[in-house]
This record gives sequence, structure tokens and C-alpha cells, in this order.
Amino acid sequence: MSNKFMISLKSLYSFFLPAKSKLKMNSRYTFTCYCCGESFDEIPLCFGSEYPDYYFSVPPDERENRVELKESLCIIDDHYFHRGRITIPIIDYHEDLLFDVWTSISKENFELRSHLWDNPDRIQQPPYFGWLQTLVPTYGNTLNIKAMAQESKVGYIPAIEVVEENHQIRRDQQKGISLEEAKAKVQQILKDLHQK
Ligand SMILES: [Zn+2]
Repeated sequence: MSNKFMISLKSLYSFFLPAKSKLKMNSRYTFTCYCCGESFDEIPLCFGSEYPDYYFSVPPDERENRVELKESLCIIDDHYFHRGRITIPIIDYHEDLLFDVWTSISKENFELRSHLWDNPDRIQQPPYFGWLQTLVPTYGNTLNIKAMAQESKVGYIPAIEVVEENHQIRRDQQKGISLEEAKAKVQQILKDLHQK
């Protein structure tokens, strides 16, 4: 997985935990949350969810028995999930907007992925189909939209391509967004988080 600073999402609506601000002496802050003034020395562009959405439908006292979570793989009852990364290109900036999300995966492909976990040749696998299982902030309802997961090199989560027709997240993934649009999204995400 990327060592990039990531803001994690915990639950459906308390999803994104505020990042620890990287407070540095003498640092010139380049990004400030409008809602509370929290400062970041660079714009936070990487957000992630710790569990597939289905996890939250499992009562807390049943999770221990029903949920199996290991790294970026998760089994709940007889449902299989894996975590991957959606990249939204930012056209006029040197970094992109990243969302680490969960998708469903068939049992067969889940077992294949597990089998190939440490195999460098896994990048040659055709993509795995799945249904998005994360509510991606600022993109409305993204649950159960179609996605493909392409294996990355060992140590990295797959790249997720949204293939649902006529969804904004697909359009943005294909065409990219401007830095201004990215900043507006990040402001919205932080605001939702900070006002929990
Ligand atoms: Zn704030």
C-alpha cells in the first residue's frame, strides 16, 4: 500500500477521520479547512475506508464471529470483498485525488487473488469485476455501482476503475478534474468529517 498520508473513513457517515495535521514549525500552510481552520502543509488528497459498507449492517456484537478482515481482504458471512484505489486525475496538479475503497469480488476470484498474493506475475491477470462497496464522498450514491479491479504489483492494492455508465465518478476518473474542483471536494469532505 502507498505510504502516502491517508485519511481514513470509519463508518458510513462518520467515514472520514480527520487527518492529523502535519504541524511543523515555520511551515507555510498551503491548505486550510474552511469549517474550522485546521491547517495542512499540503492539500490532503488521499482518503480511505477501513471496511466495506456491508460491515456496518452487521451488529457490533456479531462482528467478531461474522467478519474476517485481513489487510485489504474481507469476508463477511459468504460475501467477499477487497480493497482497491480509485484515482481521480487532477489535470493541473502534480498529484491526484485518491480514494481507497472496497468492492465485492467473487469467491473464485477472491481465492485466486489470495493464491497470487505474493506473485509478481499477478499484474498480468485480467481485471476482476465487482460492485463498489464504499460511499465515496462528494459523489452521491456510489454503492453497488460496477467496478473493475486491476492487480497492482506486490505490496499495492489494485487499481479500481468505475465502469458504471453515466456516473459522475466514472466521468471524473476518465476526464480528470481541475485543482479547484479537487479543493472544493476536499473542503466538503473535511467539513462533513469535522462536523460529526
Ligand atoms: Zn474543519
